[in-house]
Formats: sequence, structure tokens, C-alpha cells
Amino acid sequence: MGLLTEGSPLSWEETKKLAQHVREHGIIQFINLFKRLRDREGDVLKWGDEVEYIIVKFFDDKKQAKVSLRGHELLLKLNEKELADPDGVKSLWRPEYAAYMIEGTPGKPYGGLLAHFNIVEANMRHRREEVSELLKPDERVMSITSFPRLGCEDFSDPPAKPTPNEGATRSLFFPDEVIFPGHPRFKNLSRNIRERRGEKVAINLPIFRDKNTKIPVDDSFKHSKAALPDHVYLDAMGFGMGCCCLQLTFQACNIQEARTLYDQLTPLCPVMLAFTAASPIHRGFLTDVDCRWNIISGSVDCRTEEERGLKPLKENKFVIKKSRYDSIDSYLSPQGEKYNDIPLLYNEEDYKKLVDNGIDHLLAGHIAHLFIRDTVSLFSEKIHQNDEEDTDHFENIQSTNWQTMRFKPPPPNSTIGWRVEFRPCEVQITDFENAAVVCFVVLLTRVILSYQLNFLIPISKVDENMQKAQMRGASMEQKFWFRKDITTQISPPEANECCKTGSTNCEPQKCDMFVQMTVNEIINGKEGEFPGLIPLINSYLSNMDVDADTHCTIQQYLKFIQRRASGEILTTASWIRKFVMEHPDYKQDSIVSEKINYDLLKTLEDIQSGEKYCPLLLGQSTMSKTKETVPSALKEGC
Ligand code: GLU
Ligand code: MG
Repeated sequence: MGLLTEGSPLSWEETKKLAQHVREHGIIQFINLFKRLRDREGDVLKWGDEVEYIIVKFFDDKKQAKVSLRGHELLLKLNEKELADPDGVKSLWRPEYAAYMIEGTPGKPYGGLLAHFNIVEANMRHRREEVSELLKPDERVMSITSFPRLGCEDFSDPPAKPTPNEGATRSLFFPDEVIFPGHPRFKNLSRNIRERRGEKVAINLPIFRDKNTKIPVDDSFKHSKAALPDHVYLDAMGFGMGCCCLQLTFQACNIQEARTLYDQLTPLCPVMLAFTAASPIHRGFLTDVDCRWNIISGSVDCRTEEERGLKPLKENKFVIKKSRYDSIDSYLSPQGEKYNDIPLLYNEEDYKKLVDNGIDHLLAGHIAHLFIRDTVSLFSEKIHQNDEEDTDHFENIQSTNWQTMRFKPPPPNSTIGWRVEFRPCEVQITDFENAAVVCFVVLLTRVILSYQLNFLIPISKVDENMQKAQMRGASMEQKFWFRKDITTQISPPEANECCKTGSTNCEPQKCDMFVQMTVNEIINGKEGEFPGLIPLINSYLSNMDVDADTHCTIQQYLKFIQRRASGEILTTASWIRKFVMEHPDYKQDSIVSEKINYDLLKTLEDIQSGEKYCPLLLGQSTMSKTKETVPSALKEGC
């Protein structure tokens, strides 16, 4: 969301009555915008990263660490420079769901020069320093995906008490004070999602069963019938949206390229989720999952019982398979169409209106599908809009469909083109790791477009991969569906036909177009079977003119990616597990005590700041570098 602006949110009853109004006008707004911008051409590659951070306060005397609820205060300061000189700042700061979170991006997007890979990490470091200057001596800004003891007693500073019987969240564990207070949007979303659903959200995470793990895990099940006794029960939007991630946005040269990128990056989402897994601890328990994904998905799941298939449909129109936060349901490029193998739900009249206005059926299906969701946050001053110019109703629904990929039309009256957002990654501890992940994904997009690679697999297989990606140790232990031959355009019907008939001119390898591979095999390659993403990137780079300095930076990043994929370096999640399980206070009971939490966060902070070097997390010879400027006299890269 943009800089802080005030507004008055409508109650759920009022919002509900206007759901159809938002839907109708949102779709008209998209149609108008599409007509204006469909033929927009010639935008150049630009890209940027977004990092979400948690402000942690350490109580060294008591050996405790808590989340500090000063996000709003810090943002008011951080935004001063931008307000004074919007084009001159190195970083931009935005609010996030929780009062202890902030989100930072580079001041300007990066461009097509390979040399830009040299400034990503320095910019991330700059952001951290900028925040650090405003912190109290005992506070730190940390890029951790989840705060391990979120929802435990007194986990925040100042402390606050949950209010199970009143307020927006009504959680047993998560107080409303922990929601970002600077804009009503966040509290309003929490309340409306709960009210639309008809009950609190409910997330049950399987506990990691250690030797002394007690079942029932705690007495949540006594307080809520939604709580499973052998699971860690979470009952608030904040448990999900209070998690942090690392996102990337790309501007494509036109709408077709944006669709291609959207599709081609989709099968990489689960792979990158497993690779960046960083959140094994929730509400003070070691769980059996490594990622935040399903937690956020459950934390904003506004579907009613009817929509979840628990009751016959009466008030609602559809049974809906997924939450608003989930992996995408359809590809958008003509090439992707054949892989759209899960039914796409939408209102016929919405779809028809889009198609009647010249929008092709893939994009029409995508937009109509987003619009099966009701608005869950509406402000009184935004109800009546000029559909020729405004896009707020469209954005209202678009921005509350939190999916692995987001297809973004150019904003009204701006110089920005068609964009796609890559959203699965968990945030890493150090700027070095985050920069490595960012550069790796950006390089992949260059390789995909230059070599016209094809990563497409059926959407249902991407969904299957998303679930595997979150399992404990998935990066090493799970196998993911992947396309075997990424240089072919042959697709399922042809391939199946060919294989079924046993036709003699059918090349055997095309019969099993999709194979299961480990993250290591996907990233580093599999002898004689799959080239590997890193070798592909290296081959691409060998044809490019790269200056020595940039080359060195990129190679450090790629080596890190290679080593982590191979297991030589642990995922953040595995590293955190190991730390807890080897802690002298750990009682093999899956409980992450105040003291373990404190030591863990202290250690992570020391690693982040370079106080401590940790080969198991960062690799033997990795040395992060600081570079402030793009070296001059470099040739245009891609
Ligand atoms: N924090 C959310 C996540 O971890 C993303 C929120 C956003 O879209 O900025 O996925
Ligand atoms: Mg964000």
C-alpha cells in the first residue's frame, strides 16, 4: 500500500452490501484500463525487491526478546525524506500488517544492466542502516520470516493482552494492539475476514514430534473447537500476515512478455519456497513445517462454511477450493493454456463482460476468477468513482488476492508498464542471502526470455509442489514435479497421444515430460537428464560482457545458491531447527522457551551484522561486499 493516508472504513454489514458494486465497477475499471494500455510497448526491463522486516527488542538482563511495536513511529520518520524529495531517496518505506513490521524497497527500480547486481546488497544494507539509526539501543531490525514466540504471553513491547471476546481479532493469543495502528486498513481487514467467514480463522500446524513432546500440545482445544490437540493452533490474521517475505517485481516490455514471465516463473514458486524456507517455529513450538505459506493462507481465509464445502450452498454461489492467499489457478500465455488443468471458478456474467470487451479468454478468466472474492475492506470516500480514470475497485480485489504470482497492469497516468510480482520467497537473515536470491531469480528471467525456455507443467502439479515445499526439510528431502525438457514446446495432449499410441516417431523422452526432481537436481542439474538452472545461468553469462567486479559478485551469489541447493549449506529453517535442538536448555519437547528464543535471535542478529560468521548458513568463503555505486563504463547487459 502507499504512503499513509487516512480514511474511514465501512463496517462489515455496509461493506457486504457494496460487494456487488465493487465487483461491477472493478471489472469495468479493468476493461477501461486494458483498452488504454493493451498496446503499450517498449517499456524496458526494470525490477526491484521488497524486504519485510521485524523490529525486535532485546531484554539482555532478563534474556528475553520481544517484538517492538514501534513500526508506525519509525515509518513516520522514515517517510520524511521521501515526502521531501520523492525522486531522490535510496529507499522507500511502507507499512505492513503488524505494528512490529516495516517494508523497504530500493528508491528506484534497477534496470537491465548486469552491473546493477552489484548494488542490490549495498542497497539492502543501506536500508537496514537507515532503520537502525532510528532504533533504541536495545532494538534491532531483523529480516526474519516469523517471530518464533509470536502469540506467547507478553511477546510484545509494550505488552498487550489478547481480547478473545471483543475487538477485531478475538484471538486467544494475538492482541489487536499488535496490528499496525497507523492505518485502519489492517484492523478492518482482520475484522471483515472474520465476519465474512462467520468465525475466527483457524490454522492447525502439525507439531514436530520430539522424544518428550507432550500431546495435547497445550490446552487450546479446551477453548476452541477448531483447535486440534496434537497441533499448534493459531487463530488470528496476525499469525500469517505478521510473517515477512522477500518479493520481486519485474516490468516487462509489453503485456505479452508479462504474461510469459508470469507463467514461466509459476513452476519456480514452490522450488523457491522450499529453497528459502525460514519459518519452522510458531507460537513457541517447533512445528513440522518449514514455511509460512499455508499459515498466511489460513490466516486470511474469508470463505464461509458453504464456500469451504462444509455446508450445502444456500447464501453463497460457489464452493471455492483455495483461500485468497494461495498459489495461482491459471496460466495467462497462449503457451500456458494447455496446462490449465484445474477448473477456474468465476461468475459467467463477469467473464462475459470482459470477453465482450475484447479481452481474450485467458485474461478474462483470470480477472473474473479474482473477482469471485468479495471486497473485505472498503472506505467510505472510495465508494463512488470515475470508472474511466480510477482503478480503486479493481485494485481493491486485485490487492487482496495474495497469490504466488501477481499480474499487474500499469497504474493510471504513470510511466510504469505491465509488471509481474514473484511472491513466494521467505526472507533470509542476511543481506547477502537476500541479494543472492534476488539476483538468482532476476537472472533466471533473463535466461528464460533469451533462450525462450519452457518450464510449464500442469497447474495441478504446481499445487502439489506447493504443499511439498512447506514440509520439514523439503529442500533436501522432497521431490518436485518439473519439466524434463525445458527447450521443447510440446505439451500434454500431443505428448500423451503420442505416447499412448506408441507411435514410432514418438521420442521416448517426451512420454514422461514431467519428472520429479530434488531442489538440488533442479538447481544444479542431473547428469545426462537435466541441465540445471545454475549451469543455464552460467551459460547465459558466458555470452555476456560482464565486468570483473560484477562477475565476482554474481559468482558469489550463484555459488551460495549452488551450495544451499546441494545441502552443503542449510536452509534458514533447518539452521534454526538445529540451533534449537542443540541448545542446552532444549528439553526435546518441541518447546522454544524465552531463553532459547533470545539466544536464537541474538545469534541470528550477530550473523546478520557480521559479528559472527556462520559457514553452515552462509558457506565457507562467502564474504559480502559493500558497493555503493554502479561502476561506470559498463556496457548495457540484457
Ligand atoms: N507478508 C506477506 C508474505 O509473507 C506478503 C504481504 C504483501 O503482499 O506485501 O507473503
Ligand atoms: Mg509487503
